[in-house]
Amino acid sequence: MTSPTRLESLRHAVPSDVERSPSGFGIDAVEPALAFSPDDRNEVAALLRAADEAGVVVVPQGGRTALSLGRPLQRYDVALETRGLQRIVEYVPDDLTLTVEAGIHLEALQQTLREHGQYLPIDPPPDDHVSIGGLLATARSGAWRGHLPAARDLLLGAVVASPTGQLESSGGRVVKNVTGYDMHRMHTGALGAFGVIVEASFKVAPLPPVTRTLAARADTIAEAGALAMRLWNASLAARAISILAPETAERIGLEASPTVLIELAGLEVSVDRSTQIIREANPRADEPAGTPWERLRRLHGDRVAAVVRFGVPSSDVIGAIEAARGAGCIAWGHIASGAVIGHAPSLDAASVQRLRAHATERGGFLQLESGSRGLRAAVDPFGPGEVDLVRSLKARFDARGTLNRGRWMEGV
Ligand SMILES: Cc1cc2nc3c(=O)[nH]c(=O)nc-3n(C[C@H](O)[C@H](O)[C@H](O)COP(=O)(O)OP(=O)(O)OC[C@H]3O[C@@H](n4cnc5c(N)ncnc54)[C@H](O)[C@@H]3O)c2cc1C
Repeated sequence: MTSPTRLESLRHAVPSDVERSPSGFGIDAVEPALAFSPDDRNEVAALLRAADEAGVVVVPQGGRTALSLGRPLQRYDVALETRGLQRIVEYVPDDLTLTVEAGIHLEALQQTLREHGQYLPIDPPPDDHVSIGGLLATARSGAWRGHLPAARDLLLGAVVASPTGQLESSGGRVVKNVTGYDMHRMHTGALGAFGVIVEASFKVAPLPPVTRTLAARADTIAEAGALAMRLWNASLAARAISILAPETAERIGLEASPTVLIELAGLEVSVDRSTQIIREANPRADEPAGTPWERLRRLHGDRVAAVVRFGVPSSDVIGAIEAARGAGCIAWGHIASGAVIGHAPSLDAASVQRLRAHATERGGFLQLESGSRGLRAAVDPFGPGEVDLVRSLKARFDARGTLNRGRWMEGV
């Protein structure tokens, strides 16, 4: 229990109208004592400094779509909502560069870019309300990974509020960056363990003129794997090549067969040529009805189910799909990134450990992307990783454990 006096100092750090009711900011059924929604980055920095001095724990949050990612929090005193940081700071369409505040939602940003025939080439998330700060802090990816750059590769620079109340910039707003360490990259995938991202600059891309989805059916999952590998090596204008087990295909509205789902994107001539190559390789390939990608993303983003993600060499994708099915999951895999997703209503710790062993024996890893609080406490969601390095970074950038304490790794 945090003493009211210590918390009171946070109230003095910012104008009273940025305080919110803490109800509605619960995480894993724990409500914070205080909640704030600052309007600008200086208020974020002031709140962090006050929290750091008071020794209380702050959880930054944007769209709140991934707050149960990682280990259960060790403590949760203050919710810091980034919704007030919504501005597009600078957009230069001719340079394909964009700088935004971190609370802006990806969909709002994409809408602005679309008006100029451009987009941030990041796999659409399962939820519309994903903030740019949350996107960078979670660094999750879907079917486009391996075909298009990851978010961290599109990030040109960032401004981060540190627990000591400093606003630290790294990188720049243009493609030709200033020199110095790419500190902004350290914050991608760090789940907000080292600072609060308040501004981010990206390289954007022209929208592809044509997109097309094809579903190619095979008789067995192994055949689907061989077909996916062949198509991946054929240099298609592809943005995604995914292998679906039959029950997964059925779950997203397709025929219940082992399936390779391909998304093409590019100039019409390239997409047509790629379509021809796919049909030569698999005469049964057709354009499916419905919204299979959207349904696949929603399955991956299911926050009620247990969801695991393997990272394995592309040649082991089929083996990982079979291992996940053996544990009772419906499963699918993305050939270019070697990511295999297993989804089940629930999993026990022993099953997750067995699947992790399967991945590590093949030089890969396994992350628990969603699961009950009990499961996330029993199994480290991220696995062993570089825990010593991460601990030393935490000691350097958030020595008092003010941010997201315990979420990423033990003691981080
Ligand atoms: C298959 C799949 C693919 C996905 N692909 C994408 C994708 O391409 N693009 C995408 O945007 N999302 C993607 N997502 C969603 C993604 O995993 C997260 O759900 C989402 O990005 C979190 O955003 P949020 O604003 O809801 O963050 P929140 O749920 O509010 O926060 C998530 C974490 O980030 C921290 N955090 C939030 N804001 C900040 C900040 N400003 N600074 C520091 N830390 C912060 C929080 O403390 C917390 O630890 C994908 C999800 C799945 C399942």
